[in-house]
Amino acid sequence: MKLEHVGIAVASIKESAAFYRKALGLEIFSEEELPSQKVRVAFLKAGDTFLELLEATSPESVVARFIEKRGPGIHHLAFETSQILGKMEELKSLGFPLIDERPRIGARGHKVCFLNPKGTQSALIELVEPHE
Ligand code: ZN
Repeated sequence: MKLEHVGIAVASIKESAAFYRKALGLEIFSEEELPSQKVRVAFLKAGDTFLELLEATSPESVVARFIEKRGPGIHHLAFETSQILGKMEELKSLGFPLIDERPRIGARGHKVCFLNPKGTQSALIELVEPHE
């Protein structure tokens, strides 16, 4: 499966994006707020894949809690699938627990689902079915 993006929890999208621009020449491709997740996200294009910078918009955000516990840093890996429902069924039948029972609409209007890290040897993994 293709690595669609790497999610990185940051204290400030502005400061983090400035680093990636200056040091690595990566530019912001899209930016949006996800009120349901209490995060603001910015996608930086890095060749064939993206970095997703995640900034909490509330102290109750999962990203805020992540940073509080572990500090800023790599938060999740996202893999692309053209058939998210089928992939979710396959993972469930193999005994891998999912956080989301059904796909939800994530950033960029894509369908997404997270695997429960209890079943993934601890990395948080997201599945993404791109929005047409
Ligand atoms: Zn993501």
